[in-house]
Amino acid sequence: MRFPTIDLLRYAVRDSLRKWLDKSGACESGIGIYCYHGLVQKRQDKQLERNFQSVSDFREHVQFFRRHGVMTLENLTHPLAQGGGSDRRRAVITFDDGYANNLLAAEILAEAKLPWCLFVSTAAMGRQKAMWLVELSLLLLHGRCDRLEALGQAWQLRERKERENAYKAIRYRLKPMPANSCRQAMNEIRGQFPASEMERLLEQFPSLRMMTWEQVKRLSDAGVEIGSHGVEHEIHHPAQDPEVRRRELVESKKEIERQVGKRCRFFAFPNGDYCDHSAQELEAAGYELAFTTRPGFIRPESNPFLLPRISPGGSLAKLKHQLSELC
Ligand SMILES: [Zn+2]
Repeated sequence: MRFPTIDLLRYAVRDSLRKWLDKSGACESGIGIYCYHGLVQKRQDKQLERNFQSVSDFREHVQFFRRHGVMTLENLTHPLAQGGGSDRRRAVITFDDGYANNLLAAEILAEAKLPWCLFVSTAAMGRQKAMWLVELSLLLLHGRCDRLEALGQAWQLRERKERENAYKAIRYRLKPMPANSCRQAMNEIRGQFPASEMERLLEQFPSLRMMTWEQVKRLSDAGVEIGSHGVEHEIHHPAQDPEVRRRELVESKKEIERQVGKRCRFFAFPNGDYCDHSAQELEAAGYELAFTTRPGFIRPESNPFLLPRISPGGSLAKLKHQLSELC
C-alpha cells in the first residue's frame, strides 16, 4: 500500500538533498557520514572491542573534521533553510548501538562544539543489557563453558583460538538467519552458560555496557540527535520476515519519541545491511533519511534511505588513506 503524503515527503527530501548537493559542489568535495560505535582508552580485548576507536585516535579525527567542517543530519534534510548552498561543511558524525562509552565521545564533541547523531537499539538500553551480537561475542570469547552445542554441532571452547574460531563461524551463520531462528539458536547457546554470566562479563568488560534511557535523554536535551538502530538490532536482510523489519522500524521510532520527547527522523541499518524493500519500508515507517555502512560519499543521486557511511579504521593516517581510496 502506498501513502501519498509519504511519497511527497520522500520527493521533498530527495529533491532538497539533490539541489543542495548540486549547488554546493559538495559531491566533488565529498560529504562523508562517519560511522563510529564506541571509544576506549585502551582495548582489553581486540576481538571484542574491534569496532571501537581509541580516544586518542578519535580526538585526532575530530580535529580533522573540525578543520573541514561538520554538519548535522538536519542540514541534510533542510539544506536550503539552513543556507546550506554556500556552506561547504563536509562531515556528519554518527555513533551506532548506544554504548555507555559514547559518553566519552559526547564530552569530546561538546568541547569541540560539534553536532553528532546517536543511533540506539531500543530494547538494549540499560546497564545490564546487551544486543544479541554483543552477547554472542562475550559468551563465546569469555564465557564459562568448554564445549558448546550450537547449530547442530559441537564447538570446543578450551583455548582462545578455538573460541575465536567458534565465535566467527557462529556469528557468520546467525547473521543471515530470520530473527526467530536466530533467537532460538541464541537461547540454546545462552542456556549452556551459568545463569548470571552476562552480568559478570559486563562487569569484566565495561566498554560493552549500554547507556540508560536517562543518559540518552540527557544527550538529546543537550542537542544530540537520537536516531533509531532498531528494537533488537535485527538485520534487514531478504530472509528476514517483512513483519520483523516493519516492527524494528516502527516500534523503535515510537519508543525513542516516547523516551526523549522529540521526533525520531533517522535510521541506521543494523550491521549496515538492507534489502530491495528497505527504501520503501523506511518511507512507510516515516523516516526521512537512513544509513547503511556501504562506504562512500553522498552523491546527488543517492537514495536518501540508503545513504553510504564511512567507518573509520583507526588512526587519522588510516582514515585519510580510506578517504583517498573513495575519491
Ligand atoms: Zn549496530
